[in-house]
This record gives sequence, structure tokens and C-alpha cells, in this order.
Amino acid sequence: MKLTQDVIHQKLEQVIKQEDLTDHDIDEASHFILRLSYCQTEELRRWFLQQETALFRHRLQGLSEKQLAKAVSRYAQLKPIPESEKERYRDQLLKFTTPVEFNTAQFYAVPFTQALSLLSSRQCFLRGGSAYVPQSRVLTILEAKFRTDLARFLALLANAGSFKAAQDAESSRIYPLLKNMHRALVQPREQQLNMPAGQALTADNIDQFVSSMPLCMRQLHTGLKTDHHLKYQGRLQYGFFLRGAQMSLEDALLFFQRHFKKVTNEKFQKEYAYNIRHMYGKEGGNKDGRKVGQLGYGCSKIISGLVAPGSANEHHGCPYKHYDEQNLNRLLQKLNIGDEKDRREILNQKKMQQYQLACLKHFEVTHPNAFNSDIPLDNVGNHPNAWFHASVSYNSKFQTGSPPEEPKAVSP
Ligand code: SF4
Repeated sequence: MKLTQDVIHQKLEQVIKQEDLTDHDIDEASHFILRLSYCQTEELRRWFLQQETALFRHRLQGLSEKQLAKAVSRYAQLKPIPESEKERYRDQLLKFTTPVEFNTAQFYAVPFTQALSLLSSRQCFLRGGSAYVPQSRVLTILEAKFRTDLARFLALLANAGSFKAAQDAESSRIYPLLKNMHRALVQPREQQLNMPAGQALTADNIDQFVSSMPLCMRQLHTGLKTDHHLKYQGRLQYGFFLRGAQMSLEDALLFFQRHFKKVTNEKFQKEYAYNIRHMYGKEGGNKDGRKVGQLGYGCSKIISGLVAPGSANEHHGCPYKHYDEQNLNRLLQKLNIGDEKDRREILNQKKMQQYQLACLKHFEVTHPNAFNSDIPLDNVGNHPNAWFHASVSYNSKFQTGSPPEEPKAVSP
């Protein structure tokens, strides 16, 4: 039997059921498998460290105070200092905490080497080799410890030859999987992208769906309407996305021709229609209409696989990566995405080069009930079509009313 993505998913689901695996078990197993694969080179180790640390931080931020205290004790073996010690250093501790925080929070005495960033910004009190920090700032310390531990393990794995040992067993089943895992793209499953019943994306109704598009596609749509044209990379990025969103070939041709207002019919047929048909697999070597770009470009390709937009009338790329902070902030404000605090969080993710997490945050603030619903959210933040599909399903489930007015394009 041919192992299509759907067959693999079915098999995995079977195993998960048989073994009664929880989300936690699956998560833990995935992490260790990825360690084995991503220990191979310095570059892969750096990338893995960055992603796993961001995920760790994200999870810590979601903990209640009680859960955080438990995590601190278990993971860093740190215990809060007794009340008498806290009172003894009251004046010093009040220099970097508010009276309310001082009275309510627990404080930890941490070896100062684990609190260097807090020391440099004077957010702790140093005495006898220990840095005294309130619980709210202990998060930075846990994150640093996690990063150091993981970096050490990855280096050990690489040096211990665990990967080299696998290389000797060239014929083994596991080795090629581990070796090439970092090259694999996780594509959303096709049936997960079916439009909700009774809805189809057409040249006539596309404007109603623009508010369900992730920022990259929204900017391409707005750019197309403003300039009456899209440059080559933009046409590919948006064209494949529309195909992945199940717009028919006829509608895609109609849609682009309608908006390419400065182009004659003859020129459109000669210069643009061929490429659109090609995207749908109807021209060129592969005419079965299914294999070419079925699901559109994924985020990793858009973020790092395309030539960055270089001028104001190039609208392709990922705004979280390719816009500067000021322009991104302006765009988020224009689109009414979240409040100031949400936008600050999104911009912080951008600053840390976590573009996909910034995009995920955008989804979270504009679809507040999605994470407690049964809407499939796999690949939101990994693939624009998954973002779009989840948003359309959300809007059809929660009936959020008509979309806001479209803003003018903001250039990178
Ligand atoms: Fe588009 Fe992905 Fe960037 Fe989001 S992270 S804006 S979906 S490319």
C-alpha cells in the first residue's frame, strides 16, 4: 500500500489508541526523537535550541503561580527562602519589587551564575554568591537553565557518536528518517482544508474571506487591489494559496484577470494565464492537476525560501519577517489586531525572530475561543492555508459577523 500522508496519520492514530498514549507522552517522545535528528550539525542544534526554548517559555507563561512554584522546585531544585530571611533583606529587596509583590511573592536565592541577565539589569539582590529574585522573575532563570541543559545534551549526543553509530547501520529503517527529518515539511492534510459545508471560495466572494487570511495573504490581496498587479513572486505565493484554499482554476483566472486592470485580454492570456494554469497542474510536464503545489507554500518557504521583497510594490513574503517593527505595528493597528498589550507581545516575538509564533499570537487574539473548541488548529502558524481554514471554520461556527473594512496596503 502506498504510504500517503493520510495513511501515515491513520496508522499513527491506531498506535496512539492501542498504546493509550497521552498528549504528554507524544510530546515527550517527539522531543527526544528531534534531539537525535537535530544534533547533527551546529546550525541544526542552534535552530532546535531556539525553537524549543521559545516553546518552553510559552508553556511557563501559561502556568499559574502555584504551578510555577512547583516547576521551579522540580526542575531547578530551588526552594523559596524562609520568611525570616526575606524580612532581613526587606530594604534591599524593595529596591526592585513593589511593596505588594514583596508582601505576596516568594523569593528564591539562586546561584548568581544562573541569574546573570537579572544581575546586569539590577533586577535582583546579590549576597554571598546568591542572587535573590522574586518568583515572577525566576522564569528567566528556568529558561536559561533549560537552554544550557539542552545545549549540553545536544553536544553530548553529537560527540558520543550516537548519530555516527546510526550511520553504520546504513540499511536500518531509522537512520534515513532521522537524517532527513529536518528537511521534511509538515503539510496540512488535504481533508483538513475542505471549506465548511456550503462555502466555496470564488472570484466573486473572495472579499468576504479576506479577514480570515493570515497577514501575508491579506497583504497580497490588498496589494493586488491597490496596484492592479502582482509581481512574479507575489503571483506564485498568492496563486498557490488560492489553489490550496480550493478556488477553482476558472475562478482563479477570472479573479486575476479582473484585477489586472491595466493589462489587455490578449496580454493576460499570453503572459499570465499560462502560469496560473501551470499552478493548477494543467500546463507543463505535470498535467494531472494534483501534484503541483496542491497546498500552497508553507511558512518556512515564505519566510526563508523566497527572495525578500525589495520594493514598495512587491507584496510577497511574511510581514512578521519582512516588515520593520514600525510598519508591522502600523499594519496591526490598522487591522485592529488585539489591544496594545497583544501587539506588544506580537512585536516581541518578531524581535526574537519567532515570526511564526507572532503569527500564532495574531490568530489567538483574533479567534479567542478557538483553542477551547474542536476546530482543527494543526499547522496554524506553519502554513497559511491551515490558518485560513481554521479561521473560516471558526467564523462559520461562532458567526462573528461581517469582516472589517479592508485597509490600504502597508509596504515593507
Ligand atoms: Fe503567513 Fe506564515 Fe508569515 Fe503567518 S507566519 S504571515 S501564515 S508566512
